[in-house]
Amino acid sequence: MRTIDTVYIDGQFVTPHGEELFDLFNPATEEKIGAVRLGDAVDTQAAVAAAKRAFPTYSQTTKTERIALLRRLHDAVAARADALAAAMIEEYGAPQAFVGFSVAHAANLFLDMAQTLEAFAFTQTVGGAQVTLQPVGVVAAISPWNSNIGSICSKLATALAAGCTVVIKPSEMSATQTQVLTEALHEAGVPPGVFNIVNGRGDVVGAELSSHPDVAKVTFTGSTAVGRSIMRAGAETMKRVTLELGGKGPNIILPDADMEAAVSTVVAVGFLNSGQACIAGTRVLAPRSRLPEFLERLKTAVAALAVGESADPAVKIGPMVSQKQWDRVQSYIRLGLEEGGELQIGGEGRPAGLERGWFVQPTVFAGVNNDMRIAREEIFGPVLCVIPYDDEEEAIAIANDSPYGLQAYVESVDVAHARRVAERLDCGRVTINGAPHAPLAPFGGFKQSGIGREYGRYGLEAHLEVKAILG
Ligand code: NAD
Repeated sequence: MRTIDTVYIDGQFVTPHGEELFDLFNPATEEKIGAVRLGDAVDTQAAVAAAKRAFPTYSQTTKTERIALLRRLHDAVAARADALAAAMIEEYGAPQAFVGFSVAHAANLFLDMAQTLEAFAFTQTVGGAQVTLQPVGVVAAISPWNSNIGSICSKLATALAAGCTVVIKPSEMSATQTQVLTEALHEAGVPPGVFNIVNGRGDVVGAELSSHPDVAKVTFTGSTAVGRSIMRAGAETMKRVTLELGGKGPNIILPDADMEAAVSTVVAVGFLNSGQACIAGTRVLAPRSRLPEFLERLKTAVAALAVGESADPAVKIGPMVSQKQWDRVQSYIRLGLEEGGELQIGGEGRPAGLERGWFVQPTVFAGVNNDMRIAREEIFGPVLCVIPYDDEEEAIAIANDSPYGLQAYVESVDVAHARRVAERLDCGRVTINGAPHAPLAPFGGFKQSGIGREYGRYGLEAHLEVKAILG
């Protein structure tokens, strides 16, 4: 049983002013594994003050100095890969394939941003004016439990590349991962105050950051509901925001798709991270002409998914992160039945043989129409909705008929055809035939999936103010 009882302010691990203890659990066993002492508004104010003090000097660093710093941060995080993976598995239960990707991704984000910085011009001449891009100021970075280390590293790398100083509020449910990561970041030798990390509740530390007058920008990854409250709180002081929010990704299987390959992608992206992924492709649009064949193959593939403790490398679906998340997914499975969804596989309750742990049966509903709540709302668990369509126009219309617009998928043997469809989808990213992640390409959402983009040049520009000097 561990107690994490420090926060990181001004280059030091310090005991927080806040005294609340928040319990941490292993979701595969439901056992308490420790607790974290949460910071409060006083700790948050101290962290913002440290970041504000560090800003005048850090914002004047050169590109070369920042690139060197980003490389040191990469090395420090990469050196802790095993400890980060162990923490993710214990605290969060993510399947090993996802953990392996997440840990490597978290470290590489610093190298990706160093590469972006190398090619980036902070000054240009535009029509006789000198246009410079200067760091926006103190940045608050807020992360979700399902992508805690990746969000922290992405936001930190981008802010530091821009010349900003940072206060990070990690997910309170991810304190073990945060502790390992903070120790790694500390070892990289970043000047005091340039980054600070305060564990705490969203409505305490997160709310203080979203309204603090010395915070110039909030970069947030989490739910759409909290994203709205951050925007409202930040409006008073005109905070810049980057909001990476929820999704309900469509996966369009075009009639010419190789069905075996398409089903494999549908399963991989639909059940990504046990379905607890903003980018999961959970609305599967299947051509009516090939529906029976598709459903048969899908049921077989889902039946073969191993559910269990992610310490086992064969496991593809781990537990939900918490009792609350388990209850939420169960309620959506019940709702799907009430709304007339045709259950193909899965359903309510735990999978056979798993008496404890927040495990959910991978579930597929067919006969779904896009007006049902299970097709419109983010479930955040291993539940797929199959929606039939008659022609391509209808498929595109259904895909775009959503309050969200984060990530979509298209499956086809004809890539040029898939691209033509992709161009008509209202979302920030479209992945064709399970293409791999492109780390320098922008990422973010249309509509209620967010505002702004992360990664690469677009992410960097969102941390810079534009100034024109004339004469
Ligand atoms: P959440 O919105 O409940 O919490 C996210 C973070 O916000 C946490 O650190 C939380 O403590 C904090 N928070 C809560 N209330 C706050 C407030 N009033 N002010 C400021 N901060 C506050 O989300 P979650 O349950 O941790 O994560 C799951 C959600 O995140 C899903 O909706 C998912 O789609 C989304 N997500 C989006 C992306 C993306 O890149 N678009 C990536 C991962 C997760």
